[in-house]
Amino acid sequence: MATPHLHPALDGGIAPTSPDFSGGVLVCNCTDRPVRVRVEGQVAHNHACGCTKCWKPEGATFSVVAVAPVDKVTVLENGDKLEVVDSSALIQRHRCRSCGVHMYGPVEREHPFQGLAFVHPERFETEGWQQPGFAAFVSSVIEAGVDPQEMDGIRARLRELGLEPYDSLNPALMDYIATWTVQHRTKSAAQAAAETADA
Ligand SMILES: [Zn+2]
Ligand SMILES: [Zn+2]
Repeated sequence: MATPHLHPALDGGIAPTSPDFSGGVLVCNCTDRPVRVRVEGQVAHNHACGCTKCWKPEGATFSVVAVAPVDKVTVLENGDKLEVVDSSALIQRHRCRSCGVHMYGPVEREHPFQGLAFVHPERFETEGWQQPGFAAFVSSVIEAGVDPQEMDGIRARLRELGLEPYDSLNPALMDYIATWTVQHRTKSAAQAAAETADA
């Protein structure tokens, strides 16, 4: 069986995290007037995501997505090209209206992830960003058209790359969400996790 194609930043082996990476500039795909967004500091919780809402490069099965504190994210250039994909979603994904690349997605409403922005580190101009550490919402790739029979091969390949596959978020984030949920006594942790994928 052919090796499943997951994402360009995963398929050829994962580039290591650099201890010297102190942030960078995310750039969209436009050759004319690209949108440029600065992120100060290293990103966190970088992972492969199989949900249908995250932006993926052409032909990829998964996105690669991480978080940064929203106050460390600044639009530097051509922010007039940004539009919100779905204003009712938890993550306010801002995409370039010309090329479609999602540049940052802040969480503004009350939620365990409030104050964070989701970014796609592969758009950094420089290398050394935190390497992905797990795979989230893996079963959701079926919703994007993957044959269910391919799932064993996809999960095996993710494990081979060191990305433990989960069908929600990983235990560290689920425990974080559940702890927040206990303190705030709002929705369930499963619900709060699902909102990040708009599931
Ligand atoms: Zn663009
Ligand atoms: Zn996602």
